[in-house]
Amino acid sequence: MNISKVLISDALDKAAVDILLKRNIIVDVKTKLTPAELIETIKDYDALIVRSATRVTKEVIEAGKKLKVIGRAGVGVDNIDVETATKNRVLVINAPGGNTIAAAELTCIMVLSLARPVVAACSKLKSGVWDKESFKGSEVLDKTLAIIGLGRIGREVARRMQAFGMRTIGYDPFVTPDVAQSFGVEFMELEKIWPLADYITLHVPLIESTRGLINSVTLNKCKKGVKIINCSRGGTVDEKSLLEALNSGQAGGAGLDVFEEEPCKFTELLEHPKVVCTPHLGASTKEAQIKVAEEISFQFLTLMDS
Ligand code: NAD
Repeated sequence: MNISKVLISDALDKAAVDILLKRNIIVDVKTKLTPAELIETIKDYDALIVRSATRVTKEVIEAGKKLKVIGRAGVGVDNIDVETATKNRVLVINAPGGNTIAAAELTCIMVLSLARPVVAACSKLKSGVWDKESFKGSEVLDKTLAIIGLGRIGREVARRMQAFGMRTIGYDPFVTPDVAQSFGVEFMELEKIWPLADYITLHVPLIESTRGLINSVTLNKCKKGVKIINCSRGGTVDEKSLLEALNSGQAGGAGLDVFEEEPCKFTELLEHPKVVCTPHLGASTKEAQIKVAEEISFQFLTLMDS
């Protein structure tokens, strides 16, 4: 495939530009374009690289008369209209591996922050109150962590939390019990998982079978006080059901990095004392940004050589 002019429309580590320039590709970085500006600009390019801010809509793809490939520097392609791209013979590629460790580490931080109320204790101390009584935590040793979605991130979370002495159980329709066992996860069907888990963490894409996976029905099948972590995709947890469960005590806490709507405006959930939350920071490490930038550009070079 011949790629001569690439538009990068989201902030991306300069590693991407450096790699593409070495192959004499013209690279323009134009971030914060309005939808109308992107539609106008895309006409001149045969390739587009985005992170998550740019929405690559039907209109953008149809305006890109020269467009051959769209690269997503990251894993999820939910900001790209893949159906229209396919119809228009525009290839969509992603960089799935670069974010794995960053997202896995944030997930582990969420588990530990729910076990030990570091965030709440810290903000109280900063407000001038030395309160040793309100923040008794619990140990994660010998607790059960259920990992739903045993792909790249789920596996890394398992390995790390096993080091803390947690029992790891999990489910994934495309992973066999033997493969799960190879990274120390006891494979179980969901119905067995709900009543066993002290913590449940999701590492699935947002698709038909995962939309609202954590809802009032599944939460009520869980142990009282179950803690829910979602660093995967908003929409996999039904937020209203989660809030109800937090208020009733059925859920003992939630660690949320992703939301049904982003930026999240569900203040009742965000401000809930049992919620630890971050604004979709799963991939936000220096290292991950370099890795995804390199990964997507090397994929472009592979395409050019094919
Ligand atoms: P992956 O493709 O390696 O793993 C996803 C796994 O989910 C697969 O093994 C798949 O078989 C499984 N799965 C699919 N449907 C399922 C279902 N119904 N029940 C259980 N499992 C199911 O992806 P990954 O790299 O591990 O990423 C996982 C999720 O994390 C993705 O949604 C990704 O977009 C998200 N992510 C978020 C951040 C962030 O910033 N918070 C960063 C990186 C990735």
